[in-house]
Amino acid sequence: MRVLLLNPPSRQVVIRDYLCSKTTKSNYVFHPIDLVVLSGLVAAHHAVEVLDAIAERLTPEEAHARVRGAAPDVVIALVGSVSWAEDRTFLAAVARHARVLALGDVLHEASEQLMSAESWLEAAFHRFASDDVPRYLAGERSQLEDVTLRTPSGPQRIRTAKGAREYHIPRPRHELFPARGYHFSFARRTPFATLLTDYGCPYPCTFCVIGTLPYRTRPVADVFEEVDHLRTRGVRELFVMDQTFGVNEGRGITLARGFAERGDLSWTTFTRPDTATDALLAAMVSGGCHTVIMGIESGDAAVLAATKKGYTLDEVAAGVARAKRHGLRVVGTFVVGLPGETHGSLERTLQRALDLDLDFMSLNVAVPRFGTPFRREVLRAGLADAAELSMDQSGSAAFLPTTALTREEVARAKRRLNLRFYLRPGYLWRRLRDVRSPRELARQTAEGFALLRRNLAARDGSSVQ
Ligand code: SF4
Repeated sequence: MRVLLLNPPSRQVVIRDYLCSKTTKSNYVFHPIDLVVLSGLVAAHHAVEVLDAIAERLTPEEAHARVRGAAPDVVIALVGSVSWAEDRTFLAAVARHARVLALGDVLHEASEQLMSAESWLEAAFHRFASDDVPRYLAGERSQLEDVTLRTPSGPQRIRTAKGAREYHIPRPRHELFPARGYHFSFARRTPFATLLTDYGCPYPCTFCVIGTLPYRTRPVADVFEEVDHLRTRGVRELFVMDQTFGVNEGRGITLARGFAERGDLSWTTFTRPDTATDALLAAMVSGGCHTVIMGIESGDAAVLAATKKGYTLDEVAAGVARAKRHGLRVVGTFVVGLPGETHGSLERTLQRALDLDLDFMSLNVAVPRFGTPFRREVLRAGLADAAELSMDQSGSAAFLPTTALTREEVARAKRRLNLRFYLRPGYLWRRLRDVRSPRELARQTAEGFALLRRNLAARDGSSVQ
């Protein structure tokens, strides 16, 4: 079969991946990891092409022309709640020429009802690092892990197999993705590639969809086959998209040592302040890691505890300090607007971001992501509408009120925190000194202005719902 892996077009620059979707906060667009993984799985059995209309900034008309030119039998498309209205219109038109399968956050919950209303959609997939897609394409209906199918009695979500603890995927076909159009704020060099060495996350954080997926690891040998292939293509910079690199310390150190043996890689990844031990961080730095993204979430002890992150403010401070001692840049991610949020807790969050001496701050607004315990909680409390499928997980528009703050107050607070963090003369000077090449300077300047534009535009009310 001819299979087209499709990231559909959108008016905005959107990121749809890993059962999340959002508008880009500054300028970044990285490779959609679901399609990267599927490129290996599907190419083992079929002729595969990739069309990333976001990276290529295609209009719907241009993207339609490219889809028709590819003449696929099957299109496997990403969809997202951030662009759901556009996605369903575009894919309904694609379905006149090809079978359409899809995956994305908006299908992660109540997929049977949704498929009843969307006749263009043949099946919805709820896992991408599994054999579900190749099995389904081969006509196998047993042993599917988690797929919503059309049956004679209507759409039905089938969960028949648990899946092994370790998953194997044939080498992802990075060469099928556009050579240009991807940007990653923390990359030190270009080109960069996005890769995954594990899947899901073993932690139960209430607001996070990744924690609802079964945690699995990929054989280390498979990871290095992929890395070495990327190196033959001249790629030395990686975004290792594992949600908690080194969740198993021994495996993390083994991976980091493998990177070190290659001697020419530099990379960014996510990790947790409590699991990032000195031994792990030392191995990561030797392996070329230069930036870690850590979930700080809140500077308020009660708000943090309610997320079930499983660490305290002191553990966060110790983890960040450890990473910085090892010479890593630390990006702190925060969620504002969680149910217990108040003006006071937001002030403590800002103070914490400043005290931790973070290199970057990434602010997200709490949104009820599909399939999460947080979503169930806010629906129960009547703070959100279950029928509302469109949302932007970047928080460009504040989605929820809290018990003490209105939606507009949450939105205003987010903008204020961003501006107060980034527009400090000392901070800007430090950023400038950290830049290693004219190209990195140009990229960071563009990212900074994009972030500023978004926050100032929102201050004028243009993106506040
Ligand atoms: S540790 Fe990170 S990836 Fe894992 S569930 Fe919590 S927020 Fe999600």
